[in-house]
Amino acid sequence: MYDSNNVFAKIIRGEIPSKKVVENEYALSFYDVNPMCEKHVLVVPKGEYENILDFAKRAPADEQAGFWNCFVKTAAAIGVDGEFNVFANAGLSAPLFNQSVFHFHLHLIAGKKTPACIDLMKEMLCEK
Ligand code: AMP
Repeated sequence: MYDSNNVFAKIIRGEIPSKKVVENEYALSFYDVNPMCEKHVLVVPKGEYENILDFAKRAPADEQAGFWNCFVKTAAAIGVDGEFNVFANAGLSAPLFNQSVFHFHLHLIAGKKTPACIDLMKEMLCEK
């Protein structure tokens, strides 16, 4: 069940600060505090959705359109056009990366990998 005390819900409500990139009626984007690459932004809907599947199933058309509009504007705002990754983690036991904040968000990442990202990739390669 969705818990409205999660950190992104608090950012949306303006209770904690974030480095905002784009905001519209239905969605918001802001820089990740622990970037995996030079550019690492999170795009979140303002509505209460736990993960991408929940959002895709339940969000009305205007919220979905607003979310994608925010995504497109975010990519333009941070100068991302062709070379990037987008991912969404879901659940505590996802195969590659676990979800840690249970409010749906897309990671939009581009540019050079950070040392934290390189360390994580090395760790993953060493895992049995
Ligand atoms: P995930 O593991 O897919 O749920 O991703 C959650 C992401 O949120 C991580 O990459 C964190 O670094 C990031 N994060 C956590 N708290 C904050 C915050 N207050 N502001 C911006 N990013 C955050």
